This record gives sequence, C-alpha cells and structure tokens, in this order.
Amino acid sequence: MANKKLDIVPMYEWGMFTLPRPSVVAGPCSAEIEEQVMETAKGLKELGINVFRAGIWKPRTHPGCFEGIGVPGLKWLQRVQKEYGLKVSTEVANEKHVYECLKHGVDMVWLGARTTANPFLVQEIADALSGSDIPVLVKNPVSPDLDLWIGALERLNRAGIKKLGVIHRGFSTFDKIKYRNDPHWEIAIELRSRYPELPFFVDPSHMGGHVDYIKEISQRSLDLGFEGLMIESHCNPSTALSDAKQQLTPSQLKDLLYNQIVVRDADSEAKEWRDNIDQLRAKIDVIDENLLYTLGTRMQISRKIGEYKKNNNIAILQTSRWDAILDKVVERGKEHGLPEEFVMDVFNAIHEASVDVQNEIISGNRSE
Ligand code: PEP
Ligand code: MN
Repeated sequence: MANKKLDIVPMYEWGMFTLPRPSVVAGPCSAEIEEQVMETAKGLKELGINVFRAGIWKPRTHPGCFEGIGVPGLKWLQRVQKEYGLKVSTEVANEKHVYECLKHGVDMVWLGARTTANPFLVQEIADALSGSDIPVLVKNPVSPDLDLWIGALERLNRAGIKKLGVIHRGFSTFDKIKYRNDPHWEIAIELRSRYPELPFFVDPSHMGGHVDYIKEISQRSLDLGFEGLMIESHCNPSTALSDAKQQLTPSQLKDLLYNQIVVRDADSEAKEWRDNIDQLRAKIDVIDENLLYTLGTRMQISRKIGEYKKNNNIAILQTSRWDAILDKVVERGKEHGLPEEFVMDVFNAIHEASVDVQNEIISGNRSE
C-alpha cells in the first residue's frame, strides 16, 4: 500500500530545537528521586541542553523491577522547567499517561518501542492527544517492521498531531549482536527517503545498550544526515535504577557533543554536494556492513552443512546442486540489473570459500 503524505510542522518551528545539528534530548532513563532529576537537569542545562527527558512510567521486561515513579515525578519535571528553563519530555504508553502529562504541562512526549508495536494503544494515545499541540516523537516498534512504524505516525497525524517526529532506537533480535538492538540502518534510511520532512532522532543509548557505543552510533547518525539525538544521561549512572550501562554523566555528554563527534556541515557553495555525497557514502557503508554480516551468516551455515555431511558420510561437492544455485542467482541478478558475469564471479568466489571451509571440516582440520 502506498503511504500517504504526512502533514508535518517542521521541527525548527516547534520552539524547542534550534540549529546547528544535532538537536539533543537528554536526561535519565527514569526519574528516580527528586534530587537525581534536579542534579542531572542542572548538569545538562550547564552544557547547553534545552530539552530534558526522564521516564516517569517505565515499560520493564520483567515484573519486580523499578517501574517508574509515576505521577509524583511530573512535579519534579515542573521544577526542571521552572528552575532551569528546560523543556521536559517523557514516555506515554496509554491515555492516562497522556492526560497526566497534559495536566502537568509536559512539553513533549514520546511513544516507546513496545507501544508503537500496538495499534490499539497508539490509537488510544492519538485520541487522548487530539486537540493538544505538544510535539510527539514515535520510537520504532521493537520488531523491524517499517509499516507498523509508519502506521503509528499515520494514526497520530490523523488525530491532528502535526509536530511529529521519530526516534530510531534499533530493533530487538534474538541473535547475539554487538549492540543491544539491531540498528537496521536501511529501515531508517527508507523511512527518511519516504518522509524527508519528518524530524529524525536516533537514540544511541538504547540502540547500543552500553556507553562504549554511544559515540560511534551518534557519529553514524549524523553522517546519515539525521538531525537529532536522544541520549540517556544520569548524574550517577552506576546507581541508576534502569539502564545503568547506557547512561552518560552530563560531563561525559559534554565531551561527546563538543569534542568527540564531528558534524559534517560544510558551509560552502559545495554544501549540497557534500551533504549528498556523505549520505550516499554512508548508505554504501551500511550496505557493506550488511553484506559482510550476510556473508558471515552464510559461512556459518556452510560450516554446519560441512559437519552434517561429515557425520553422514556425504561428499562435499555436489555439482548439480551448485549448478542449480548458479542458474537461479544469475536469473535473479538480472532482475536486479546485475550482469551475468559479475554474479557468476561473486557466487563462484562464495562457493569456493564454502567448499574450502567444508573440506577443512571433513579432513578434520577444523570443526565447530
Ligand atoms: C526509554 O526511552 O527509556 C525506553 C524505554 O526506550 P525504548 O522504548 O526505546 O525501549
Ligand atoms: Mn532507558
């Protein structure tokens, strides 16, 4: 189904974000106690952050964990507004949360990944927000499902929410990967190309799951041309009641923003060319990473097949099977505009490497 156009108020007209990039939303995963909220907000204010985040209601995987302070925390956010002049934002996951936020003058809300995945809740939230003017950011759903993400945006937009943006925080995966959530940058790139006007934040804290990855994810996000970052920051991360590993202190955040990341925004006549070439190169980098990941996964399966052949005493080379694969990929390659010779070269190289690996396994030099 073709996606409908969204009716969006540009982010720099919301009255909370200004150029230059990146626009940053920062604050603790959870509002825990008043002192922690105020101390973190003070540190963030000092480094020039304008928009504060703090989870008031926390969607925790297991029961019995800290599930958020609830409504009393909204009073602390009001203090943050009054004493530090920061805009404040929090996550809403049902209509009650929305009503409480509106009642307490929260400046912006976001939908968490688990909520975006549930159209009933998204609709309930959209209805509750209808008629208000606060910006709403929509995190990607937990599963890599672009339509589900777009569907949530459509529901909010139909309810009259025009100050609308997204937060990319990666997708859940059962596989062991470096990050807590799989970035699937290609999904973010696809969303951006379908809705170039949609404000785009990346959340390196939840994507990486560890402070060690915040810099590289932030840089990647900037290189892809996204305008915002949502980063978790806590005055004393090691004591945090949720997501302790992925929160920076305000001073670490300052170092990240002012010394570590590079904003490639050349202010010259060649700016448009630069922006385009950087974006295209970043896309190529993402594709290359995906290619390597796919090749690695294929090789693991080849190894398993090698083991299986060894255990069942089957010969490695089954040329008829390989001929059938080659015919198929050459045909499919043509559909993707790829020359036959190129496809043959690539797949023969892949095949040779697989046969070598299986040979090693059968001859006992290597096994899993
Ligand atoms: C959060 O922002 O604290 C949060 C719960 O994030 P997510 O919905 O991305 O898991
Ligand atoms: Mn968190």
